[in-house]
Amino acid sequence: MSQEHVYDVIVIGGGQSALAVAYYLKRTRLRYVLLDKETAAGGAWQHVWDSLTLFSPAQWSSLPGVIMNGGSDKYPTRNETLQYLRDYESRYQFPVKRPVEVLEVRKENNLFILSTSQGTYISKAVISATGNYSHPIIPDIPDKSLFKGTVIHSADYRGPAAFAGKRVVVAGEGNSGAQILAEVSKVANVLWTTRNAPSFLPDHIDGRYLFDAATALYKARQEGKNYQPRPLGHIVKVPLVREAIERDVYHALPSFDYFYEDGIGWNGGRQEAVDAVIFCTGFLPALQHLAPLEIFQPDGKIHTHETKAINIAGLWLVGYGSWTGFASATLIGVGRTAKKTVDDVVHFLEGTSSWSDVNFITN
Ligand SMILES: Cc1cc2nc3c(=O)[nH]c(=O)nc-3n(C[C@H](O)[C@H](O)[C@H](O)COP(=O)(O)OP(=O)(O)OC[C@H]3O[C@@H](n4cnc5c(N)ncnc54)[C@H](O)[C@@H]3O)c2cc1C
Repeated sequence: MSQEHVYDVIVIGGGQSALAVAYYLKRTRLRYVLLDKETAAGGAWQHVWDSLTLFSPAQWSSLPGVIMNGGSDKYPTRNETLQYLRDYESRYQFPVKRPVEVLEVRKENNLFILSTSQGTYISKAVISATGNYSHPIIPDIPDKSLFKGTVIHSADYRGPAAFAGKRVVVAGEGNSGAQILAEVSKVANVLWTTRNAPSFLPDHIDGRYLFDAATALYKARQEGKNYQPRPLGHIVKVPLVREAIERDVYHALPSFDYFYEDGIGWNGGRQEAVDAVIFCTGFLPALQHLAPLEIFQPDGKIHTHETKAINIAGLWLVGYGSWTGFASATLIGVGRTAKKTVDDVVHFLEGTSSWSDVNFITN
């Protein structure tokens, strides 16, 4: 393979995290490309349900360079967020190739070899930004195969219409569960099951406050201070949730223990006949393409310092959550993580043979 075909860095993914990284890569002279398995721009936002509302106002939901429209009182919808990401990508004309799914990443002779759905790509460094959405967690509950009803994860939920007139279980006490329950309860008879007691944040607290609180915690830890903020709750009262609280629909039951043909049951005797269960039980990082590198920890994550993989040189991970950079799974937080990552990549490539090509653009 001739040198022209070796990228300095390949970014895997094309969602908000990959775009934030691309924003800073564009300011270098690095040869880079983004490989995204989607057919269109917008990452996971093109798959989430229509009524999903951000829990941070627009002004606190922006990638570097472009503030999202709407100011400090508007909680952007899924469509507005998707449009923002599409406009962002086309404004900066990032080199994104779609659809290209990265199937396997290997390292040979200091180069990364990426086997993809569209042939082989080679680079000196890799930034993985594949998110969590394509790896939903469904708990392994006994006798699921006996259940005659529908079982889905929130990743496959599109809206309440499919559940009209049914008896539905929403499982999970996070923001997804609370928001889905709010709208399904308008058309269906809903039970809410939660592993931990759900707790709603006070009215005035939203994503912007949580981000500020997390920033304070991060800074305190950096400075070696022992600062422990008071836990306040975790469900943000976006307007949809607030309206559902007024309808008095949030009554949590403990997680159920098993399925039976017509419904769900708890050890101790209680059973409920239901037609559908929607698991709002979170996601794992989508890292399967990195399996050949054999650097996974038992929890399925990769040992990192900030975004840099510890056990292999030249690999960074962006956007998967706090283990890959503070607040990196949010629109507002990923910019800071992306900037630091690109700085690191530039310094890493300084040590490679073609450093003459690797300079920041100064004008
Ligand atoms: C209910 C809910 C509410 C949320 N609210 C907010 C909020 O208020 N504010 C906020 O900032 N965030 C919010 N988020 C989080 C946000 O949606 C995600 O954190 C965000 O989508 C992550 O962006 P990403 O770019 O890391 O991943 P994604 O958006 O998932 O993008 C990853 C991209 O990589 C692609 N990909 C995956 N695997 C491969 C592969 N092997 N090869 C090539 N491409 C691949 C995917 O197809 C996708 O295009 C919310 C999420 C949920 C579920």
